[in-house]
Amino acid sequence: MTRRAPLIPPGAVSGSAGGTIWIGIDDTDSPEGGCTTWVLSELLRESRIAGIDLVGEPRLVRLNPNIPWKTRGNAALAARFGSGRGARRRIGEIDGRPIWAFAEGRAPDPDLVRRWIDRAWNCVRQVARSESPGTDPALVAVDHRLPADLYWNAVRDVVRPQDVRTALEREGALVRTSGSERGIVGASAAIAWPGTRRTWELIAYREPQRIGRPRVVDPTSVRSAQASHPGLFLCHDPRTRRMLVAPHTPCPILFGLRARRPEAALRARHSVRSEPVDRWVLFRTNQGTGDHLGRWTVEEIRPYRSAIVPGTVVAAPELLEGGHVRFPIEAAGGAVLRCVAFEPTKTLPRVARTLAVGDRVLVWGSRGLAPGLRLEGLALVRLSPARFSPRPPRCPSCRRTTDSLGFRRGYRCPGCRRRWPPEAATLRPRPTSYPVGVYHPTPSARRHLAVLGPE
Ligand code: ATP
Repeated sequence: MTRRAPLIPPGAVSGSAGGTIWIGIDDTDSPEGGCTTWVLSELLRESRIAGIDLVGEPRLVRLNPNIPWKTRGNAALAARFGSGRGARRRIGEIDGRPIWAFAEGRAPDPDLVRRWIDRAWNCVRQVARSESPGTDPALVAVDHRLPADLYWNAVRDVVRPQDVRTALEREGALVRTSGSERGIVGASAAIAWPGTRRTWELIAYREPQRIGRPRVVDPTSVRSAQASHPGLFLCHDPRTRRMLVAPHTPCPILFGLRARRPEAALRARHSVRSEPVDRWVLFRTNQGTGDHLGRWTVEEIRPYRSAIVPGTVVAAPELLEGGHVRFPIEAAGGAVLRCVAFEPTKTLPRVARTLAVGDRVLVWGSRGLAPGLRLEGLALVRLSPARFSPRPPRCPSCRRTTDSLGFRRGYRCPGCRRRWPPEAATLRPRPTSYPVGVYHPTPSARRHLAVLGPE
């Protein structure tokens, strides 16, 4: 196992290995308030004061959505800093001044790096809700992007902080934590995210004195923003009439515009009518990528994993109390997987209750502690022949509809008496069945990482 020279050896005065500096942070908020994205925006403000540039876009990275100890959306944040080079782009505004992201960067002076990391950690500690039990902020600093497996493990599995610590030592990263070390899982995963399969979210923040009071965001302006900027997604749910851009927690976020292209979010910002925006930042994210779904076999779907599994329906769906629907599928190798489509997803239980034995499906979703998959999506791949009702063929000579001669006995033309075998029937799906296709939950029931679908 090769070890890189540490970025800044503990207790040393300098020692940058030469690259730009990645900083990842996590575990800074609590259910009572705070938000790690806001902590990162504070870092961007501090970096301006410290005279160090932002290189590339700041990252908002969602991790395993099933982790029981997450506060809300299991988000971790990262950004890269250095001496900016090349084109720069405005990706935010704080204190009325632009935040620039440079296309490229060089290693800053090692002394500046050391001071910047100290300053960043002080800022994280001051802003984090460290007084809340279970909020144990962490910062990881390293002069190169970390290996991608640190991301894939954290988005698809349950990771032990000590394994991450070992990997970080190997990479020569600097780690700062207060309390438990759990935050290093997210902080390092945000740096390790390859960032190529991505979307964007522009987050606008509230003025501090308004936090805790009801948010003022005009839903009509949000609907028209989405209509005039088709690059946006998950702004509102036409079915439940819920607005999806504003959170319902006491955090500093006013609204977030999710987009397939950064320009869509940057332009749409001006269309949203709301209370005053204190600051805003555009993040590159892994939202909507489905990165959490692993192609696990049924046996491999351990607690808190998410999976995408092809299979065949092996028993009729059961309607559960509350409008949920449960059905079993047989996957490769004969293993049976129990799937549940929950009522709040609206579309999924409606489709699931029409499933028939023999239907070929592709299901995706997550497992909690108990076995079985909580569905996040469902594709009807091929309908079972049992779902089709046979229609007698038409006689090509007499142009009359033939008569059935009984079960599996074929058909006969009432005019010319010509006969046809049972296979000559034309098949028509029973009127209640949904067609072959992909079905997603209603937008308000979609998770941050859920694959993008029609709205
Ligand atoms: P918010 O979305 O509001 O920022 P959160 O939902 O991200 O909050 P955190 O307070 O950050 O919740 O807590 C999540 C904790 O779980 C972090 O310490 C993070 O490092 C850790 N964590 C994230 N993913 C995994 C994983 N796959 N395995 C183990 N720990 C994880």
